[in-house]
Amino acid sequence: MQPWENPEIDAMKGKYHQLALDYFSGDFTERDKTGDFSLQRWKKAAEIGLLSMMMPASLGGMEVPVTHVVAAFEGFGEGCRDGGFVYALGNQLCGIQLTIKQFADEALKEKYLPELMNGNRLAAYGFTEETSGSDAYSMQTTATEEGDNYRINGRKCYITNAPYADSAIVFAKTSAARSPFSLTAFLVDMNNEGASHGREFEKIGLRTVRMGELVFDNVLVPKSNILGGKGGGLRVLAESTGWERAVLISSALGPMNRGLKACIERAKTRNQFDKPIGAYQQISSKIADMVMRQRLSRQVIYDLASKLSSGKSMHTCAQDAAIAKLFVSDNFIRFEMDAMQIFGVRGYLLESFINRDLRDSLSFNIWSGTSETLRNTIAKLEGLPV
Ligand SMILES: Cc1cc2nc3c(=O)[nH]c(=O)nc-3n(C[C@H](O)[C@H](O)[C@H](O)COP(=O)(O)OP(=O)(O)OC[C@H]3O[C@@H](n4cnc5c(N)ncnc54)[C@H](O)[C@@H]3O)c2cc1C
Repeated sequence: MQPWENPEIDAMKGKYHQLALDYFSGDFTERDKTGDFSLQRWKKAAEIGLLSMMMPASLGGMEVPVTHVVAAFEGFGEGCRDGGFVYALGNQLCGIQLTIKQFADEALKEKYLPELMNGNRLAAYGFTEETSGSDAYSMQTTATEEGDNYRINGRKCYITNAPYADSAIVFAKTSAARSPFSLTAFLVDMNNEGASHGREFEKIGLRTVRMGELVFDNVLVPKSNILGGKGGGLRVLAESTGWERAVLISSALGPMNRGLKACIERAKTRNQFDKPIGAYQQISSKIADMVMRQRLSRQVIYDLASKLSSGKSMHTCAQDAAIAKLFVSDNFIRFEMDAMQIFGVRGYLLESFINRDLRDSLSFNIWSGTSETLRNTIAKLEGLPV
């Protein structure tokens, strides 16, 4: 028995599974088509604690162990078939809230965290640019010092939650050098003069969380809004992407759990040539692979969550986090491809959750470090000159 296989974890998973079924099922096919993000649902998610799990009790947070957070996301993701919404919650928790918790001063924490927890404020994570995806150093957004402030100029692209974000964590170059200390992270309010939301992008998956640009045209930001110190941007990035790789990745588990049940049922009950399709080895092998992928993904995620729950730092677990994200992403996509094949044409219909989960899964190889760059990270931590 694994240390994370215990009644407390099961209860957490079961509780959020039920809450998802009670409040977050329903009209998802239509919302998948329209790409509709619902602020009302966001507030409901806040009300049931999904946005305060990893926050300090002193500010009203629940401060539950990482294993429990992962269990809540697994259960919630299984009941809530809206993968975009689950992704948005995890992005907010790991990319925004944990970053502020770890790198902001007390005044900023008190100003932002309670409102982020109760859903009255929603923030975006602005790193990627047209010229800078995997390669952070090719970033063009700049921040220049001006007395007690910095002046930010630049355009962030492909940013989750950008179209309606009230605030953003924004990375900018504070030095032209191609050095690990050339980037700085700022917390910026989008109602500052010169800040705007730019264009929106339509995605094939995770449709119900919207994606867009954040534009900064001579935006003045006080020095006190720097996160992690001047030149500390890469450290902030490593920490927040580490948490996304460790925790947000658990949003793959819910779709795998429900997909597996549906596929096993289908393989047993769909008859062709006078036999259930599961009697054909090519289908039963797919089911066996799916069981393996689901089970090992859980294991990888919960093992890492157990290490983090026991107090290990994200820095110490950087390679584990890269492995978890890489392993689960690859297996999630292959799992969903098999699910689609087992369901045949019915999986291919827009009304089916199978194609929606497949479309959602394709993003997992890209966000928070592509699978190729994760392989680079893993090899580099073994001493290779990548
Ligand atoms: C659903 C989703 C949500 C996102 N949300 C956000 C967000 O909230 N905030 C944000 O800042 N960004 C966000 N992004 C953007 C994401 O961070 C970038 O897409 C990612 O960093 C990769 O950058 P890129 O897409 O420009 O690919 P590129 O860097 O252009 O890479 C293209 C291809 O080349 C490969 N490649 C690049 N460099 C190497 C190398 N050294 N070795 C081997 N292969 C390499 C990549 O792996 C990839 O396959 C989101 C993306 C997605 C899909």
